[in-house]
Amino acid sequence: MARVAFIGLGNMGGGMAANLAKKGHDVRAFDLSADALARAREAGCLPAASVEEALDGAEAVITMLPAGKHVEGVYSDAIFTAAPQSAILIDCSTIDVATAKRVAETAAAKGYAAVDAPVSGGIAAANGGTLTFMVGGSDAAFERAQPFLVDMGKAVIHAGASGTGQVAKIANNMLLGITMVGTCEAFLLARKLGLDPQKFFDIASVSSGQSWSMTSYAPLPGVGPTTPADNDYQGGFATALMLKDLRLAMEAAGTAHADTPMGAKAAELYEKFNAAGQGGLDFSAILRMLDGD
Ligand code: NAD
Repeated sequence: MARVAFIGLGNMGGGMAANLAKKGHDVRAFDLSADALARAREAGCLPAASVEEALDGAEAVITMLPAGKHVEGVYSDAIFTAAPQSAILIDCSTIDVATAKRVAETAAAKGYAAVDAPVSGGIAAANGGTLTFMVGGSDAAFERAQPFLVDMGKAVIHAGASGTGQVAKIANNMLLGITMVGTCEAFLLARKLGLDPQKFFDIASVSSGQSWSMTSYAPLPGVGPTTPADNDYQGGFATALMLKDLRLAMEAAGTAHADTPMGAKAAELYEKFNAAGQGGLDFSAILRMLDGD
């Protein structure tokens, strides 16, 4: 088993670092929050007093931070100066594509192997070790990152060159935002026209309107499988995080001159829902806003 530096022990990173420790890795963990460090100690990690201390002798360096500026800051302030040259650098945060590519270019120029490896799956998947990783980087870097990612997830997929893990993540979540809004609209239209929502689910979930938003995450309480809608939209995937990913998708679409009118509309609707103070609710709760609540 290997020595791993783990930076960023929040909602996601806390469970991921715990799973690496459970698999027998020697995890040196760092976070700015003392509470997060205390939880990491309880989970079998060794808390470090600084990023540099966590990096000492590391064979893999994993970051799970809020946004691109935090990742670039930690990489330029500490990792690029103090990580062993032999370490594989793995950023699991969801960040903008431009920063991910810039970090990868600097890593290559400094002689490091690095990948972007954002995740699909929320806090429960992070705790349960069932995340999906989408990985951007060279074949050689992917092969070196894979054994560590396997210990935290159920699927590890090589997307392509550096930055393509982030591309996969934001394109997937843009589609998810769009299908959720569309699914909510369809349920509300059917109900207003006199069709029982459960009947609509029974039909649409085996017809061409089917999607994950419909089949696994039906946005109306009491319809389809048990979802956050059945728990007053608590838990699940927070609206604020969906909005973060939609903003990243719109930013990248602008840079690439990609026309994404549906993504833009979904982003606009989630901006409005979030601004109404609903950012903590599961993203399927946008049904309430569309229903005029
Ligand atoms: P979080 O805010 O709970 O955790 C981030 C942690 O990073 C915090 O504990 C914070 O103290 C720490 N941190 C910030 N700057 C630091 C620094 N310079 N040095 C050390 N630690 C620092 O966020 P999260 O929910 O764990 O999400 C992490 C990433 O995963 C984000 O990019 C998010 O978009 C992505 N993500 C989250 C989810 C989810 O459901 N929460 C799902 C998929 C992806």
